[in-house]
Amino acid sequence: MDKTLHIIGGGMAGSEAAWQAANMGLRVVIHEMRPKVATFAHRTGHLAEMVCSNSFRSDDDEQNAVGLLHWEMRAAGGLIMEMAQKHRLPAGGALAVDRDPFAESVTAALTAHPNVSVDYNEITTLPDTGHWIIATGPLTSEGLGRAIAAETGTDALAFFDAIAPIVYADTIDMSIAWEQSRYDKGETEAEQKAYINCPMTKDQYEAFIDSLLAADKTEFHEGETAGYFDGCLPIEVMAERGRETLRFGPMKPVGLTNPHQPDKKPYAVVQLRRDNALGTLYNIVGFQTKMKYGAQTAVFKMIPGLQDASFARLGGIHRNTFINSPTLLDDQMRLRSRPHIRFAGQITGVEGYVESAAMGLLAGRMAAAEILGHPLISPPQDSAMGALIHHITGGAEAKTFQPMNVNFGLFRPIDGLKGGRRGRKDRYKAYTDRAKAAWTEWLAGSNAMAAQ
Ligand SMILES: Cc1cc2nc3c(=O)[nH]c(=O)nc-3n(C[C@H](O)[C@H](O)[C@H](O)COP(=O)(O)OP(=O)(O)OC[C@H]3O[C@@H](n4cnc5c(N)ncnc54)[C@H](O)[C@@H]3O)c2cc1C
Repeated sequence: MDKTLHIIGGGMAGSEAAWQAANMGLRVVIHEMRPKVATFAHRTGHLAEMVCSNSFRSDDDEQNAVGLLHWEMRAAGGLIMEMAQKHRLPAGGALAVDRDPFAESVTAALTAHPNVSVDYNEITTLPDTGHWIIATGPLTSEGLGRAIAAETGTDALAFFDAIAPIVYADTIDMSIAWEQSRYDKGETEAEQKAYINCPMTKDQYEAFIDSLLAADKTEFHEGETAGYFDGCLPIEVMAERGRETLRFGPMKPVGLTNPHQPDKKPYAVVQLRRDNALGTLYNIVGFQTKMKYGAQTAVFKMIPGLQDASFARLGGIHRNTFINSPTLLDDQMRLRSRPHIRFAGQITGVEGYVESAAMGLLAGRMAAAEILGHPLISPPQDSAMGALIHHITGGAEAKTFQPMNVNFGLFRPIDGLKGGRRGRKDRYKAYTDRAKAAWTEWLAGSNAMAAQ
């Protein structure tokens, strides 16, 4: 049996996966279509090209979930973090890098590795045999996209993100909002209380619509086509179609009674739906948007009950190929229908350079360990790596699955710690301490197995 690991896509995830597997002694071939086949966002033929911002975001490993992910990747000898550190630019607490030298050094490190070779060709079919990782990212080529859709079913492969903002549940003001499903639908009490509702008066609604219309919006990139619009209109586009459109759409006030003011019918209602099994995150239903991030925070805080809300992620709409991982992948990131193929990176439904590289790191280690005959258990849910992989392969709601950044809402709560904004500092420190211990232990086991 051939022990070579093939990786399709030499971006953030593919590069990190190759590095990890090669260091565990495996022969690795990276199949990268650039520079022969271009995407609308990449400019070079380098591996690990940063397509937009040059930041890996916060480097604070005590108070920030993405900083914690940096820490865990560094502890695992991650190539992306090593080269980011080498080409670091001054950026306060953020890890910003000089993008071209960064990508050049990742490319140089991989091409110089005795176990790695790069095949600069596009792959357009799903392989029948061998060991594979698909890490082709948000701009997966059309041919391969078609092959994945044929294998998984077209409704399990998305070509666009239409992300509604996600709010930390403990920052919603429940003295204004209340739990109730429309018309109390559902068999169980949990189903009848599945939504959190935020009521608006007429004046509040009118002011909200004015702000939506005036807010700064981002434009679509070239190549981000229409057609998408049929299914999922941004809220500001709905508002442009008429001031009442939202009140007859996602903000309709019917089938709901406000227990704080039972005699007063709300003029409009914003609904939030549970976004993870832990119940720590809620998405604002139907609020996909092209508003700029600063504008989103200002506009959404106008919603009564969300005036002090913290957002685990803001909304967005852009070209992004990703699979429905909760239904398609097992906890080792293997395609259930073809377990010799793993997925990694943004195509699994994580979002961002760091998260994508992190999932590459795990997929590379897991694939190598399996091929070498010492399979790894998946990482503990209390680590940032574990929280993320657990979310995409099981914790997230499959029906509403949308790409996710790493954030503390994905972590199991710790009993006895204060909730809300006031307790945040101690809570985050407790999460990051717990995560580091859990990750260190898993890593020691993983390294010991690799050395066998
Ligand atoms: C326009 C745009 C802007 C973005 N801005 C940011 C940002 O500012 N910050 C951030 O954190 N994230 C951003 N992202 C998300 C970012 O792309 C991902 O976070 C990250 O690059 C994903 O890593 P990846 O390895 O999964 O995919 P990529 O890094 O995109 O790597 C995938 C690789 O696969 C190759 N490939 C595709 N199809 C094939 C095929 N069939 N055969 C062979 N090779 C193939 C591609 O050429 C590419 O090199 C942006 C995405 C887009 C589309």
